[in-house]
Amino acid sequence: MTDDAAAAAPTCLARPLGAPDDFPAGCAAARGMNGRPLHAAALKFFWGPMDCGKSTMALQMNYNHARQGRRGLVTTRIDRSMGAQVTTRIGLAHSAIEVTDDLDLRALVRGRWDEGVRVDYLICDEASFYTVEHVEQMAELVDSYDVDVYAFGLATDFRSSMFPAAQRLFELADEVARIQVEVLCWCGREGLLNARVVDGRVAREGAQVVIGDTVESAEVRYQVLCRRHYRSGDLGPRG
Ligand SMILES: [Zn+2]
Repeated sequence: MTDDAAAAAPTCLARPLGAPDDFPAGCAAARGMNGRPLHAAALKFFWGPMDCGKSTMALQMNYNHARQGRRGLVTTRIDRSMGAQVTTRIGLAHSAIEVTDDLDLRALVRGRWDEGVRVDYLICDEASFYTVEHVEQMAELVDSYDVDVYAFGLATDFRSSMFPAAQRLFELADEVARIQVEVLCWCGREGLLNARVVDGRVAREGAQVVIGDTVESAEVRYQVLCRRHYRSGDLGPRG
């Protein structure tokens, strides 16, 4: 192995699950009959408004992969509850690694590998609250480390503008999918946008991220609305 090849060693560490023992060292060398890479990790972004089941789907995906013997890490940021875990509206919970601005996702994976722990994939919940740099790191994990990355998050903020990390995910992901579980606006139309409601009115300006809670805080809360009612600011008969 040349020095250059040694420097690129991380690409060789992740032998695809089920690959034969003589799987060629160096992922670039591993090609199928059609000339494409035998195993190609992917960056996938699943998005939808609040309450559409993103975290539930994240945990389900983690369960499905773990069940087949794959090993992954679950990360999150600014979860509703305190402590680093992914919680869902329907009651599921899973411990998670809290993503901070200075956390390097590549270093996180390398650290686990150094400890002898396999990491085949990352489940990144609340990914719209990550930094753009984190998304770049996700892409590198896929391309250079052969680690699958599944990101879940909102597309737009309360002003209906894209979160920077979500925008980068739309730009870089191999696959982008809108989560198919519909959340309904009070009028019965499909909910699309996340309105921030401050003292009973739809807020149009303010900090991009303000944590509210639909149960405990009377002052700031979020409500999913269809585009029509987001634009008109009509919160419905019970708003
Ligand atoms: Zn509506």
